[in-house]
Amino acid sequence: MKKNLPATPRDRYWRSLEDMAQTEEFRRFVENEFPEGTLEMSSLSRRSFLSLMGASLALAGLAGCRRPVEKIIPYVGAPEDILPGIPLYYASALPLGLDVRGVVVENHEGRPTKLEGNELHPSSGGKADVWTQAAILGLYDPDRSQRPVHFGQEMRWSDFYGVWEQFRQDLRAHQGSGVAFLSSSSNSPTLIRLRQEILSTYPQARWFTTEPVSDHAIRQGVRQATRKRVQPRYSFDKARVILSLDADFLLTERDAVRNAAGFARGRRVETEQDEMNRLYVVESSLTVTGGMADNRYRIPSSLIGAFTAELVYQLQFLGLELPVVEAVLDYRNSGLDQKWIQEVAIDLIQNQKRSLVVAGRHQPPQVHALVAAINDALWNTGETVQYYGTDDFLLDAPESLSQLKQALHSGEVETVVLLDTNPVYTDSGTSPFREALRQAKHSYHLGLYRDETGAACEWHVPLAHPLEMWGDARDIDGTVSIIQPQIRPLFEAPSSLEVLARLLDPNRTSGHEEVRATFRAHFSPSEAVWNRALHDGVVPDSTVDPVPVKIRHPRLIAAVRGNPFPFPAQVQDQLECLFRVSPSVYDGRFANNGWLQELPDPVTKLSWDNALLISRHLAETYGLERGDVAEVSVGGRSLELPVWIVPGQADRTLTLELGYGRTAAGRIGNGVGVNVYPLYAELGPLYSGPVRLRKTGQRLTLACTQDHHGLDTEKLAREAIQKRLPAIYREATLEEYRRNPDFVEEAVEHPPLKSLWEEPDYSQGPQWGMSIDLTVCTGCNACTIACQSENNIPIVGKEQVERGREMHWMRLDRYYRGDFDDPEMVIEPVACQQCENAPCEQVCPVGATSHTPDGLNAMAYNRCVGTRYCSNNCPYKVRRFNFYNYTKDTPEIVKMAMNPEVTVRFRGVMEKCTYCVQRINRVKIDSKNEHRAIRDGEIKTACEQTCPTDAIVFGDIRDPESRVSRV
Ligand code: SF4
Repeated sequence: MKKNLPATPRDRYWRSLEDMAQTEEFRRFVENEFPEGTLEMSSLSRRSFLSLMGASLALAGLAGCRRPVEKIIPYVGAPEDILPGIPLYYASALPLGLDVRGVVVENHEGRPTKLEGNELHPSSGGKADVWTQAAILGLYDPDRSQRPVHFGQEMRWSDFYGVWEQFRQDLRAHQGSGVAFLSSSSNSPTLIRLRQEILSTYPQARWFTTEPVSDHAIRQGVRQATRKRVQPRYSFDKARVILSLDADFLLTERDAVRNAAGFARGRRVETEQDEMNRLYVVESSLTVTGGMADNRYRIPSSLIGAFTAELVYQLQFLGLELPVVEAVLDYRNSGLDQKWIQEVAIDLIQNQKRSLVVAGRHQPPQVHALVAAINDALWNTGETVQYYGTDDFLLDAPESLSQLKQALHSGEVETVVLLDTNPVYTDSGTSPFREALRQAKHSYHLGLYRDETGAACEWHVPLAHPLEMWGDARDIDGTVSIIQPQIRPLFEAPSSLEVLARLLDPNRTSGHEEVRATFRAHFSPSEAVWNRALHDGVVPDSTVDPVPVKIRHPRLIAAVRGNPFPFPAQVQDQLECLFRVSPSVYDGRFANNGWLQELPDPVTKLSWDNALLISRHLAETYGLERGDVAEVSVGGRSLELPVWIVPGQADRTLTLELGYGRTAAGRIGNGVGVNVYPLYAELGPLYSGPVRLRKTGQRLTLACTQDHHGLDTEKLAREAIQKRLPAIYREATLEEYRRNPDFVEEAVEHPPLKSLWEEPDYSQGPQWGMSIDLTVCTGCNACTIACQSENNIPIVGKEQVERGREMHWMRLDRYYRGDFDDPEMVIEPVACQQCENAPCEQVCPVGATSHTPDGLNAMAYNRCVGTRYCSNNCPYKVRRFNFYNYTKDTPEIVKMAMNPEVTVRFRGVMEKCTYCVQRINRVKIDSKNEHRAIRDGEIKTACEQTCPTDAIVFGDIRDPESRVSRV
């Protein structure tokens, strides 16, 4: 590839280095919309495909199947509160670590089918991320454990409860001596209350907490600076200037949905008077946040400390009062770009009270302490950053797991109860949790899956999914939400609250009663307030005030001096390893979710795999190419991963994504990617030091969507396309827009257009249209999963993705611009454009795709004969073909996740975005019944509804007052 790369990028926008080098693989994709091997499936891939779909039933030949005939059974006596076909909505909440996502759940005939953000919840504000959207598939996962298991043997629930009662009596007899509990961190007031009850009833028992990906360093740093146990919450909407120090605050850091919404509010430009915030990002590995930066500075993550020290110095030099500077003078680095840092410092000072500095959770506490001091000196505390107390949370601490392991090895702990954590997978360093666990006489694992830890324990006990249970969760600002069950537990599993309550009293078996008891004691005894909390999804008046903080400079100086920065200040030759959560499967807990596994990474566009992300220069130094398997060794430990070259990556940074290489996740997640926890457990989230990188000589094919759906560049002449781009893709800076707000219309001069076709009449009724604001779209992927959930879009598996057959109706094209090694990144969501004279309609021989009077390019699936002419003729490449009957072997339980308002497509049928026509029709019917016009904003497509940044606006483009006409 290297020899074919031009010296500098010759195009304004490019998709990949392979695009620039015009490699054979790239040209194969863009020149052939339906790559070879389309009609046959090897027996091996067929087998893995079927196991992916959860097949366990009849394996009749895929090619020979017919449309199934199914019976339906009507209600004999209809339930009072359910009208068939009319969904009901209930508020609830989903915890993720210490985060809470307030949700509204759509239920069809007692079956949850779709999640949306709850507008009344402060973290969601009506929006949702990929994990929230994909939770519905997790609920119906057939690989969730269904029965208690004792030493590998399935047991009855009554057997387990008998053993649990005996355990309770033993606890009582020995005051809890020799017993330990291990849980994740928690924001549940009821779980925290039960924990306290257990520890006071059985005073010898011990409770440990662990979290593989933690904000502990942030809390510790803020504590060093303020002497208070607090955690920060940011108001990005109020910040005019933002500096991110290696923090992917728009996607993978805590509170990302709220952060993204606030950031977009400060960035959106709808009139010439609007201001736009300015984002500076310093990072090593290109993230979604880095992609949004106005100015991005690429340095190794281990130099962020030195950068922060330099920033402190510059701010002090420019007149800001920062006494801590004396503690960091030795940590400055003259090799960093002083001018860049100085400009940031000036911008921050000019925007005091309206600026914000944030640092990534993998940075050491010293960096977070300095960040707190900088924000305070800039008068940002109380304006763009608030601090909230942590006393009401059960927090993880890094030493907690080591203490438990020690206690197990020494015999102090003989019985261990593991609550919904998987340390056998996540703690697999040189002193793995698995070995400590072997020392326990009795072990109980409670969890959704019989995962790696469940399989290593004496007992595994299934737990209820958050959509099946009663619970509660507290947000950073104190807002409490009640988690209410949307469906009776599918496998009769209890919640962790119910299992724990039984340890206090065998008659305490109701999760509902436990949550009510907490509610009565801490919030209100009133039934009306309880009902309101259930209805709204938030407990009234539960929000608390921020804690006032003051920077204690002497103490901060002593803390920084007493705890030297863990990384050297000067640039070294040594490599660094940066571990981060996957934007798809997070820390591995979502590994068995097919929607998330197939979801292309927002930056690399890899699907179904993780890889070792490195820069082009590092790859050349070690003779590595994309897909080569490399060995990474640190100390005595090594890992082998396929290499992926990422523009924008710092030259000595190796980025490794957590959450892959599971062995007991389930049929979807087992064996996907490489488990990097063995190194993570040893090195922590960021390591700089002696790392050995070696090419193994092996290669691995990775499924990557970045070059899919391109156009035939050979025939259409690449240069000509590039010349036409400014007319197609019209862009301007804020100043240019202010000078000429009509630049979009004026960029191209059209002669009067003469249509080849008989023009439909677009002057009547609503004409539906969609606008996507590329200034605020971050590429978070939430719209893709929301669309998948709403429209019953199947997953197809890695092999099919490799062939360009992914079925997503909403794809996110990621482009680079500028330097090969340090480019800008632009995201463009692309769904069906619902063209007026749609080229696909002109060529369909059977009229399966045609135009509706309200401007939709509709598909009649049962007319489609699968010629694929429409897809050939589509200039946006947004049509998706069902090469196989992808849903044929879907287990019954997974079918429960499907939206009954949307047809499930069959083999040989073309499909594409419909603008969620079922939602349009629902509102049309309602408005007709109420004899009124459809209100602007009343119809929300699934992608629009979830989009955290409100980038997507749908509506009637014929109405000049509609929001879509105005943006
Ligand atoms: S348009 Fe899609 S990718 Fe862009 S911010 Fe909205 S949800 Fe995320």
